[in-house]
Amino acid sequence: MPLDKPIPVLQPGVIYSADNGRLICVECAGGTAKFTGHDRSGQKVEPVPYLETVDWFEEFGKPMSCERGCTTYLLPVKKPKPR
Ligand SMILES: [Zn+2]
Repeated sequence: MPLDKPIPVLQPGVIYSADNGRLICVECAGGTAKFTGHDRSGQKVEPVPYLETVDWFEEFGKPMSCERGCTTYLLPVKKPKPR
């Protein structure tokens, strides 16, 4: 057993976007993305910006969660803006 365990570079509780718009978190990222910050195609996985999660919430009517549903962003409940 190796003495120095690799430390995940992804933070728990944060949703990242990977290639093809996949949404992943540290739980479901898979080893490559989890420990290198890059998915298997070599693309850097980036935290989803807060405003994008708000857009998501407004578009789908539910909080953004990662593809396996282990991490969900809880957003403040917002009333839709009157037009
Ligand atoms: Zn997940």
